[in-house]
Amino acid sequence: MSGYFSSPFPRRDAVGVAVANVIVGGDAPVVVQSMTNTDTADVDRTVAQVAALHRAGSELVRITVDRDEAAAAVPKIRERLERVGIFVPLIGDFHYIGHKLLADHPACAEALAKYRINPGNVGFKDKKDKQFAAIIETAIKYDKPVRIGVNWGSLDQELLTHLMDDNQANGSPMTAQEVTREAIVQSALLSAELAEEIGLGRDRIILSAKVSQVQDLIAVYTELARRSNHALHLGLTEAGMGTKGIVASSAAMGILLQQGIGDTIRISLTPEPGGDRSREVQVAQELLQTMGFRQFVPVVAACPGCGRTTSTVFQELAQKIEADLRKNMPVWRKKYPGVEALKVAVMGCIVNGPGESKHADIGISLPGTGETPAAPVFIDGKKAATLRGADIAEDFEKMVGEYIEKRFAR
Ligand code: SF4
Repeated sequence: MSGYFSSPFPRRDAVGVAVANVIVGGDAPVVVQSMTNTDTADVDRTVAQVAALHRAGSELVRITVDRDEAAAAVPKIRERLERVGIFVPLIGDFHYIGHKLLADHPACAEALAKYRINPGNVGFKDKKDKQFAAIIETAIKYDKPVRIGVNWGSLDQELLTHLMDDNQANGSPMTAQEVTREAIVQSALLSAELAEEIGLGRDRIILSAKVSQVQDLIAVYTELARRSNHALHLGLTEAGMGTKGIVASSAAMGILLQQGIGDTIRISLTPEPGGDRSREVQVAQELLQTMGFRQFVPVVAACPGCGRTTSTVFQELAQKIEADLRKNMPVWRKKYPGVEALKVAVMGCIVNGPGESKHADIGISLPGTGETPAAPVFIDGKKAATLRGADIAEDFEKMVGEYIEKRFAR
């Protein structure tokens, strides 16, 4: 039986990094983050999207800072959010001219809680170290952490060419894919080494190395985790649209998280045009919650349905209860401490309904086709009531509300 009942691997020992009041790494739980897709210079739209991501549960939010207008908007965005009581740390995403934007916009440098820089495009050749150093020095001056975020699509070509040449000179023991993976890992580690030489503490550095293929991501992060104790941000870049992006991200990050690798995650989903950006936060939370690492919202267990129930009442009820619980969580977290641990079951017939409902804190077994039109409700494993008539769904929702009030109210 050895190993059968064992818990997941222990978390990798990573140096904790404070991003304003959110700790990434150390003993802190894995942090959920997201990124806006608005033009940061558009203060109204960016404030609205940051607020929506925060309300959905994003603990850090990254915004693009790509030009003067965007940098000038950052302190306004910060101020507007704080005016409505939103203090979620903002991360500035810099490419190419980050050193210049940070130098020219001190209020932006101050308002951001962290800078994300890409060592692949921070500058070119001899300018590179100077521009990289300028960003690191700004981070030291304003006491901000930095994420050194390597990305497969903008990998340092000089480093890659150098490793390819070396590999060839040694008789090509590594495949081109392996050399590329090594270049990604080295780009992150060498940049971190340089930042530390300049004077940025290890407790101010987070590393990431994003690629778009699941096996590459697992290989690269496994190696990064083995060769450093920096806090790690996990993310599969260009994960894809819809279910493909969700499955690919969950597969790759689930395997790494199970091995204790990863201190903060972002699920990068390509939204449908006009689609809800908050979905990436929900998927990240669900990944962490289903793996048992964190609890964000109560779980609603529902059976998949089958030929034993042709009614859609149980699916509609499960969806409604889940949506209500998620919507109420920002308020309920304060009003009902521990409510995240609640388990609700909504089942479609007598076969698994009573059993599953008994395992939940509160559960209902709706009548399947041909069954007596009665729905037993179980609370804390015991039958508490039998609902009948046209208002079963409303009556059960009311019972869930009463249960929460009774069990979790301060
Ligand atoms: Fe089908 Fe009943 Fe099982 Fe739901 S509980 S999947 S309706 S057998």
